[in-house]
Amino acid sequence: AYGKRVVINVLTLVCELIWHIFKIIIDIFDFYFFKGYWDQPDYINAVAAICTYLEPLILLKQLQAIENQQGRVRYSQRWVARTLDLDLLIYGNEQINIPELIVPHIGIAERAFVLYPLQELAPELNIPGKGAIAELIQNCPISGLERLAAWFCKQIPLSSYP
Ligand code: AMP
Repeated sequence: AYGKRVVINVLTLVCELIWHIFKIIIDIFDFYFFKGYWDQPDYINAVAAICTYLEPLILLKQLQAIENQQGRVRYSQRWVARTLDLDLLIYGNEQINIPELIVPHIGIAERAFVLYPLQELAPELNIPGKGAIAELIQNCPISGLERLAAWFCKQIPLSSYP
């Protein structure tokens, strides 16, 4: 198991990679530490908003390229512990359901480690096909989730966008 500090450093690097590839991060809110389910290792999560012209599938491939660049090994089994997992949570108002891509991300409405940071980023958000984030969060206890200190936050000011 790695210390939180190490994981945060890796995530910060990932933010930088996303920034270099897309040049389009709007905002990243605080990282959240999550006590893994069952006997899973604990993990750290963050949600980022980006603005892009990339089509959803191309965007997914780019995210997977970053995962691979970080040394992720892919197993056929899902839901196993990963060194890095970048998911496409929402793409505008679109609802996509094809074998390679489900958007909004499956399980988005039930996962505290997604909903809580997402709500900080976009409190007014309406998740297509699922409902208002403020309502979804009512049914999703924060248990197991710990907000890390704000200084971990990496926000890129709007003025620095190309
Ligand atoms: P995971 O192990 O969670 O990274 O799942 C990876 C697989 O989920 C990939 O083969 C993707 O094609 C598929 N997938 C379906 N919907 C999504 C999504 N919204 N974001 C990321 N991966 C997705």
